[in-house]
Amino acid sequence: MTTNVSKDLAQAVLQGDRRALSRAITLVESRRSEDRDCAEAVLSEVLPNAGSSLRIGLTGVPGAGKSTLIESLGNLALARGHRVAVLSVDPSSVVGGGSILADKTRMVTLARKPEAFVRPSPAAGRSGGVAPATREAVYLCEAAGFDFIIVETVGVGQTELQVASMTDMFVLLLQPTAGDELQGIKRGVMELVDLVVVNKCDGDLAALGQRTAAEFQQALRLVPAHTVGWTVPVIAVSALLDEGIDDMLMTIERFEKGVRGSGQLDRRRHVQSR
Ligand code: GDP
Repeated sequence: MTTNVSKDLAQAVLQGDRRALSRAITLVESRRSEDRDCAEAVLSEVLPNAGSSLRIGLTGVPGAGKSTLIESLGNLALARGHRVAVLSVDPSSVVGGGSILADKTRMVTLARKPEAFVRPSPAAGRSGGVAPATREAVYLCEAAGFDFIIVETVGVGQTELQVASMTDMFVLLLQPTAGDELQGIKRGVMELVDLVVVNKCDGDLAALGQRTAAEFQQALRLVPAHTVGWTVPVIAVSALLDEGIDDMLMTIERFEKGVRGSGQLDRRRHVQSR
């Protein structure tokens, strides 16, 4: 692709054109060397306009309700005037060629909204892990004017650590569970968490969900805080019934205000970019 083409593509991204944004993300995910040159050119055009979003990492086991929650949270954030982008990072699509996050049927109401952008997982087989392309995709979304960026991943393997290393706030999504299962969550992940959300606190699962939340709150006391001056909240929600989602969004906004005000957001990004 010529320089003019990458300039045009960058301009279209900066104007918030979602198809151009998709094309640019495909470029940064590509392994072909000629695409790489073009991707670099697009990135260097748009980078001065990136950086002003809140980047939220969200992890949870398959079936925890990530896509249901992102729809609910995303639609609420849109209603509050945000522009929401969702990037899914699916380690299974890289390792096995299959997909745990069967993308096409997920987050359909959100994906239809013009102020939202939902991007399926990176193509299978990209070398070097999912992190570099996803980080660049975040910049592209920011340049396109999205200010609330959710990077979603499945809680298996190294991906959640990678996602935590490219986001401002790390959210762990759980479902109601018996206490000893909580111990299966890796300490390394616990130490990265800024917010814990227990989903499916409705119907028959409500009481168990509340107990899970209380036990997790207890367990977190033993873990050093990821973010100075921030006590990790544990929130019980039902994504299906849209219950507790406004509490979740307000908590995210409170976190953002705190880390922007204290300069921690900038410091974290500075460390991440090295
Ligand atoms: P993901 O694999 O983490 O993205 O999970 P999904 O969002 O696809 O949800 C998995 C299943 O849990 C689906 O059958 C959802 O309908 C169900 N689910 C999601 N959120 C809730 C909730 O708040 N309450 C209940 N009872 N079920 C839910």
